[in-house]
Amino acid sequence: MRDFDTIAAIATAIGEGGISIIRLSGTKALDVVSSIFKGKNNRPLNDIKPYTMRYGHIIDKKTGEVLDEVIVSYMKGPRSFTAEDCVEINCHGGVFSTNRILEEVIKNGARNADPGEFTKRAFLNGRIDLTQAEAVIDLINAKTDLSMKSALLQSEGRISKEINEIRHRLLGAIAHIEATVDFPEEDLEEITGNQVSESLRSIIKDIQGLLSTANEGKILREGLNMVIVGKPNVGKSSLMNSLLMEKRAIVTEVAGTTRDVIEEYININGIPVKIVDTAGIRETEDIVEKIGVEKSKEKINEADLIVFMLDLSRELHEEDREIIEYIRDKKHIILLNKVDLDKKLYIEDLQGINKENILTVSAKTGEGISELKDKIKDMFFSGEISATEVMITNSRHKEALYKAEERCKAALDTLDMGISIDLASIDVRAAWMNLGEITGETLEEDIIDKIFSEFCIGK
Ligand code: GDP
Repeated sequence: MRDFDTIAAIATAIGEGGISIIRLSGTKALDVVSSIFKGKNNRPLNDIKPYTMRYGHIIDKKTGEVLDEVIVSYMKGPRSFTAEDCVEINCHGGVFSTNRILEEVIKNGARNADPGEFTKRAFLNGRIDLTQAEAVIDLINAKTDLSMKSALLQSEGRISKEINEIRHRLLGAIAHIEATVDFPEEDLEEITGNQVSESLRSIIKDIQGLLSTANEGKILREGLNMVIVGKPNVGKSSLMNSLLMEKRAIVTEVAGTTRDVIEEYININGIPVKIVDTAGIRETEDIVEKIGVEKSKEKINEADLIVFMLDLSRELHEEDREIIEYIRDKKHIILLNKVDLDKKLYIEDLQGINKENILTVSAKTGEGISELKDKIKDMFFSGEISATEVMITNSRHKEALYKAEERCKAALDTLDMGISIDLASIDVRAAWMNLGEITGETLEEDIIDKIFSEFCIGK
């Protein structure tokens, strides 16, 4: 274990809930808290048994003023989250008293933790690998049950297990090549070449298998960007409401560069769907009956899925056709709303559109809404989505897998062309390195810093 200073942070969401937790990690963790802790009958804290709790008060060391009533727990390294000595102070959840305790902790020898620093230490101390650390972020940010389960699998090290297994085979190939190079007889080289080729083919297949889960995985992790476009009054807000009715997922606040934006997620059959256009908010410049073609196109360009809504009780307009033309080559659903009213629009009016993408609904009565959900799911997920299989959810992992695949293919080409086999081993070695970036074994320091900066403080 490396030697680090002692860090501290508030680990719970501030201002919410009945208690807050201030977390410390490092060799001085217990000493720092002991120095500001007053137990019953003046019993000192530093004789606390590991994995137990102690009731008492945190005091301002200078004035002796009681800051809060607390319960302190002690986890001794390496059997703790960070693999270092960890102390947690459970206090009453108020913003003021929680901050005041943290301040006192800092005054007495700890330092404010950086975002993700606790998890980073767990990684640097070898308790978890990088994919597991990243799963901690995903768990915190999970938006549906399914995305949570998928992150949980990753946190258990399932991805690393698969990656390590492939790396092991690559290493076998490298060893095989090197052994042969030492005995440069012609036919031996050919036999080895064939064996390594075969093993590379199966490795490439496995990498491709993992990569094939990446699109679905990304959606589970980040949510599907869906926009609902259509003229005013076609029923966009009503659709939103009926989708939101069942299970409102999570509203997250994302700190933007210029201002805070609120993203809304709905849970459609386990898939977190991010509603990009909050249809309920009507822009003031909207002229009734106008779609605002340019504005719609802008939104469409950013979307994974476009739901274009038409009103069955009104005739098709030129602008509608223009939008239909525009979304033709993108993933889209044409939603014919208000099926409960008299028809003025017919499917025959929608020439050149794949009938499979047209659905008839009533946002008012709820007719067709469950078909819409199934359709959304089918468009992005092949078959049942299950959280029991390993999925690549992280774009960093995906990129590394692509690179490794490329290198394996290059090695295969070299072998197939009958060029000397030690040339192939350069690419095989590079592939082995690429995969090591996923688990963090062959990753550079600054990239590691970047990954952990995505975390929030206290994690
Ligand atoms: P938006 O401007 O596209 O967001 O449209 P709204 O959701 O505000 O709906 C406009 C009007 O159409 C409202 O009065 C809704 O009650 C009504 N509406 C929406 N969907 C339906 C539907 O399926 N059937 C009927 N009859 N009315 C609907």
